[in-house]
Amino acid sequence: AACLEIEDLCFRYHDGTEALKGVSLSIQKEEKVAILGPNGAGKSTLLLHLNGIHLPQQGVVRVGGKEINSDNERQVRSKVGLVFQDPDDQVFSPTVWDDVAFGPLNMGLERAEIEKRVADALQSVRMWEFRSRAPHHLSYGQKKRVAIAGVLAMDPEIIVLDEPTAFLDPSGQEDLFEILENLHREGRTIIIATHDVDMAAMWATSIIILKDGQILAQGTTKLLVRED
Ligand code: ADP
Ligand code: ADP
Repeated sequence: AACLEIEDLCFRYHDGTEALKGVSLSIQKEEKVAILGPNGAGKSTLLLHLNGIHLPQQGVVRVGGKEINSDNERQVRSKVGLVFQDPDDQVFSPTVWDDVAFGPLNMGLERAEIEKRVADALQSVRMWEFRSRAPHHLSYGQKKRVAIAGVLAMDPEIIVLDEPTAFLDPSGQEDLFEILENLHREGRTIIIATHDVDMAAMWATSIIILKDGQILAQGTTKLLVRED
């Protein structure tokens, strides 16, 4: 079943830039989706619509069959976790532990449940031993893992990552893919935005190609195999 559907989504920034021009797509549960496209294609703008940070100016976004609107955007944000490209946009608390607890605290969960979620999330990105550290002193790769843990602590069904491997060294990229595989094995749907065709071909079960705010193609990784 489709866990995420978009119909005719358009989005224009204040300066008049049309970032999305009638995007329609559908993502099935437990897929690994790569949204591929060059810089400026509209990938980040699209991702910001998947969890209600941007609401559609025109068109519809449905999560689990329910249309996102200003009344339920908070609910949607706990179902769809978004990991920004730059962890410095997301990681800001005095300690790693506080940072990961921020989402569950906002959800109004009980203390014991918050503690369990923070521990589980930090263990699954192998950052539990860093729980008392200040995030801004960590390496980029470590901050990225803390940002992922913060999203995991909300227990989202869908996890969306913007350029997840950007600025990571090869071993950091390997760690990241291992984390993504584990999350997928737990039954979560994973969506990444990337401009890296090879990475998309290697990792994804489904590909969406975006250019100039429009979908060029959607299908399996066969889309990326050239016949020439
Ligand atoms: P991508 O993530 O694929 O690089 P973006 O969604 O960031 O693409 O950008 C899509 C288009 O919207 C680009 O033309 C970009 O310059 C423009 N854009 C992005 N953010 C803003 C903004 N805050 N204000 C105005 N234009 C923006
Ligand atoms: P960088 O972010 O600079 O790439 P890493 O965060 O990958 O560095 O950490 C360096 C090493 O420490 C890696 O081998 C990683 O697996 C290991 N490591 C990271 N966090 C923990 C942890 N909580 N417990 C044990 N080992 C860890």
